[in-house]
Amino acid sequence: MTIPSQLLTDIHSLPGFDEHLFVAAHDVPPPVSVRRHPLKGAGLFANHTTVKWCSDAVYLKERPVFTLDPAFHGGAYYVQEASSMFLQHILHTAINDRRGLRVLDLCAAPGGKSTLIASLLDEESLLISNEVIRSRASILEENVCKWGYINNWVCSNDPRDIGRLHGYFDIIVVDAPCSGSGLWRKDPNALNEWSEANVALCAARQQRILADVWPALKKGGILIYATCSYSPQENEEVLDWAAATWSCEQMPVTVPQDWNIDTVYNGTRQLQGFRFFPHKVAGEGFFIAPIVKTEESGTIKNKQVSRHTPDKNAMAAAARYLSHHDMTVTAPRDNVFQAVAACHWADISILEKHIYLRRIGTSIGEPAGKDWIPAHDIALSIYANEDIPAAALSREQALRFLKREDPQAEGLQKGWYLMRYNGLGLGWVKSLGNRVNNYLPKQWRIRMDIDDSQ
Ligand code: SAM
Repeated sequence: MTIPSQLLTDIHSLPGFDEHLFVAAHDVPPPVSVRRHPLKGAGLFANHTTVKWCSDAVYLKERPVFTLDPAFHGGAYYVQEASSMFLQHILHTAINDRRGLRVLDLCAAPGGKSTLIASLLDEESLLISNEVIRSRASILEENVCKWGYINNWVCSNDPRDIGRLHGYFDIIVVDAPCSGSGLWRKDPNALNEWSEANVALCAARQQRILADVWPALKKGGILIYATCSYSPQENEEVLDWAAATWSCEQMPVTVPQDWNIDTVYNGTRQLQGFRFFPHKVAGEGFFIAPIVKTEESGTIKNKQVSRHTPDKNAMAAAARYLSHHDMTVTAPRDNVFQAVAACHWADISILEKHIYLRRIGTSIGEPAGKDWIPAHDIALSIYANEDIPAAALSREQALRFLKREDPQAEGLQKGWYLMRYNGLGLGWVKSLGNRVNNYLPKQWRIRMDIDDSQ
């Protein structure tokens, strides 16, 4: 791989940089790492080397065909580049056992950071995952659904709209669109798109995004800014801009030396960031900086929360399917009801004043005459009741189900069944006695020809 000489010039004086080792690292395949779901993935990948800064994550010796593992579809783990999991270490300091936080993941698709954040929050906290590009918001929704948390909602708004939620968030993560040099090992084609002009363009866009969303962070709140670029223009210089524009300070983070992560500062040394080089860590290029807001934010006017009488049928369905201790249900959208934690009821009206929520809570399904069509969400939810009628599938049966075929599960009576693989919910079938209807969402089915690839 030939690294652009302009990039080498731009980064040659950065702490931790060594041109020879950096270039050589680009001829080595990137490590493969996965982060386990704390509830669904416990026990998976035992005896693998742990990612030092993320207790839930391990390196795999080789890259399996994840599509052929039903546990992957059941949300037991997320395939994620290791350096970016350092967010977990930063969040441990930022959250510090606090409950009831409002957290925004502004640039969230496909959902790597959101699934990591959701795993760390308590049930009273609420995570809003936003993806401005509509076509990418669907993959975000799919991954949020698979991860199964009722307190992770999804929207698709411009950062400027979200900025109108003055002082609403305790933590905002901006994993910004960038020039992407840190990911060349994973996607060598991206190298051809790299240019000095694009770095400048990205830096200007990063500042614009940050300026737009900053009002939504409360005083004392924490902005976590990240890129997968090596360029100081998109990292230290963005911190320079932030320090010159806002009243803010660094959030101190302790990093063991043997993690080989480079701590860097902006010009005035007011703000601190962390850089990952592939010749120093088992991971890709990454930069992350937590910043504490020390200036006042406005506050959003709290609209009177509407009186709410939840639909009785829907409440009964929610209790039948989910074991959450304090749920209510929203009014139906396209006939489908959503369960939310009662403590987040008021958030719906606050948020909907400024943004469109694509996904709220966990869908529980819809009435159909005397029947109730259970939503796919329930199957993936961490709250799915243990006593839901279910069939335990073999790997082959699970893959058939995930291809949206008849899984050929034995012993089904007429009615709805949750398809489980090693205890993980995958989706629903309705058994009609002589055949079954597969209710896996069409767009999420496995399209690969399984027999040829096994
Ligand atoms: N956080 C994601 C994860 O961990 O899976 C990766 C995010 S990726 C680095 C940056 C995201 O920002 C992309 O999904 C991209 O569509 C989105 N994006 C692009 N332009 C944007 C803009 N002007 N404002 C906000 N987000 C933008």
